[in-house]
Amino acid sequence: MHSIATRCSAVLSRGFGPSIALVKIYDTSTRSLVALPERPGPVRMYFCGPTVYQRIHVGNARPFVLSMWLRRWLIECGYDVTLVENITDVNDKIYDAARAEGIASTDLAAQAAAWYVEDTALLGLGRPDVEPLVTETMPEIVGLIEDLVARELAYEADGDVYFRVRDFEDYGCLSRQRPDDVQEQEPNAAKEDPRDFALWKGQKPSEDAHWPSPWGDGRPGWHIECSAMAEKFLGTDFEIHGGGLDLVFPHHENELAQSRGAGREFAKIWMHNGMLQLTGEKMSKSLGNIATLREVVEEWGRETLLLYFMTGLWRNPIDFSIDAMDAAASQVESFRNALRSGGAPSEASPAADSANDAGWQELVAALEDDFNTAAALAIFHGWRATGQHALLRRGLALFGLDGLEVEDAVPPDLAALARARVAARAAKDFDEADRLREQIEQAGWGVRDTVSGFELVRRR
Ligand SMILES: [Zn+2]
Repeated sequence: MHSIATRCSAVLSRGFGPSIALVKIYDTSTRSLVALPERPGPVRMYFCGPTVYQRIHVGNARPFVLSMWLRRWLIECGYDVTLVENITDVNDKIYDAARAEGIASTDLAAQAAAWYVEDTALLGLGRPDVEPLVTETMPEIVGLIEDLVARELAYEADGDVYFRVRDFEDYGCLSRQRPDDVQEQEPNAAKEDPRDFALWKGQKPSEDAHWPSPWGDGRPGWHIECSAMAEKFLGTDFEIHGGGLDLVFPHHENELAQSRGAGREFAKIWMHNGMLQLTGEKMSKSLGNIATLREVVEEWGRETLLLYFMTGLWRNPIDFSIDAMDAAASQVESFRNALRSGGAPSEASPAADSANDAGWQELVAALEDDFNTAAALAIFHGWRATGQHALLRRGLALFGLDGLEVEDAVPPDLAALARARVAARAAKDFDEADRLREQIEQAGWGVRDTVSGFELVRRR
């Protein structure tokens, strides 16, 4: 029997090979650091976005933040970058949630997609270049399934269409499973093989939205949408495919099988971000106590959340806790204080310019080495401690943290509310104090108690 490495060598050797370019990214398929192509690339990136049926969890923000940071950084490096990040608006979870609420699944998906855009906009990092919806990609999805059927890599069974796993030689290479050990997916007696997965699902009475296809009305399986959307906007081959580590199997294994099986080159580098962990376990819906992205931004502010994400290497898990967020908040505070006390950006002398160049190269080296934001953060603290504010401003700006030094002018009516709150607390009228806090928060500000009374901080 061949080892996985031998069997998968064909699929694993499709990277860029030796390159003089220095930006290196850890690639799941080869389990190694892979260099990006020479500048200006292009670097075309596809990241899997969320399935939309409720406000997104803070954990779903990690791939969004990573992809937007990487896009900024690669553009700074001189790359021609295109980032596509889909929104899954057709899915079992959406049908289930809509049924429970007694509304149309398409209405729920449209509402939740708008929430997703609204909530990620709070991060102040801009938008991906394209954010396609499944419901807008049906012709391409059906076309790709027809290609697979024509190649006999897919077959119809009971109104569904399934991918024939045993006929795709490289199946299992991304997630490093031997073909015989691949876990069963989507149990259905009509399938030829328990490992086969659905490309198209025939309409069920419980599902209110459906689309026409050569196999009857129905809707796409989950995985085919990303193969179709990546190809529609990036072409048949592209540089980076990203998403959470929980997507390696089955989602990305299946995407790879579909696209390579249909004769496309598909992604060269697979970039999987680590999950957020709540007390050591993956934060999942079943754990309860879910923090939505919106709640976290409202509680701690966008800067603190962005800095928190910087503290971990993108592909490692990261603990999410109140302590971790408080620690991030105090780091933000240290940068804010340094920039505010450091005065306005000064006109740099030629000598300072060359020193800045050398300093900047230190940051470049950290980010070129697998986009190490934790190392970048340590460099920022070095610049803070030595008063190199021009460098610090430039570095923080890469991560969306360039507004830190701006003193927020407190609106007088909010200051009055905050003073009334101090008075209410002094009179032990805590209901009134809570009401005033809520009023301040609804205006987009937070209020903190301090030794001298209160401090008002803008939340976004
Ligand atoms: Zn996907």
